Amino acid sequence: MELKEQIDEVVKAIPKGVTLVAVSKTHPADKVMEAYEAGLRIFGESRPQELKAKYEALPKDIRWHMIGHLQTNKVKYIAPFVELIHSVDSERLLDAINKEGWKNGRVIDVLLEIHIAEENSKSGWELDELVKYLDKGDYKLLTNIRIRGLMGIATFTDNTEQVRMEFGRLHDIFTTFKKERFGKDFDTLSMGMTADWQIAVECGANMVRIGSLIFGAREQK
Ligand SMILES: *Cc1c(COP(=O)(O)O)cnc(C)c1O
Repeated sequence: MELKEQIDEVVKAIPKGVTLVAVSKTHPADKVMEAYEAGLRIFGESRPQELKAKYEALPKDIRWHMIGHLQTNKVKYIAPFVELIHSVDSERLLDAINKEGWKNGRVIDVLLEIHIAEENSKSGWELDELVKYLDKGDYKLLTNIRIRGLMGIATFTDNTEQVRMEFGRLHDIFTTFKKERFGKDFDTLSMGMTADWQIAVECGANMVRIGSLIFGAREQK
């Protein structure tokens, strides 16, 4: 199927109120441009240098999201323009983003990534560590970041009940944090990819990150 038709189908399938982040990592800029011409404006990337190169090559009304693991020394590549960083998983990274936000005269929106999958995949905060960090209250001094919500990656499995349980847990945490800690600006729950976005939406996601369903399979590393 043509990219344009594929995009139209995906866009049609996603309910109103759910934001689509088109995950363009590994795909060349001309492919991203084709998706742009088909109407997409929000793209997600997982490597800071690749993200910066595409930002420079492509139209400036694209809204770039960082979705992959981010090292503190690489925040500088994306800080001047990134719209949302989904994958914030440590106090050090929050501090680094805040510092780069300050240098660039920006308030950078971030999501806290929580580890919801089985043990073997290990990105994201453990809930108890995150709660301990938030209870300290230091994050309130980070005036160049704004915590907009949560992100999570479910276990890669055919067991849909397990995926549903993991997303359901993240939704519960999101609701509790919004009520008890963050309030109105805490409005984004990023969960769901090609294999599980429908379950994620059923569990309350309002942002999904979809790559291969739009662009086709990526080359294996
Ligand atoms: C690559 C990636 C995606 C998209 O994965 P697909 O299965 O191709 O949709 C979503 N989220 C994160 C964090 C990713 O790294």
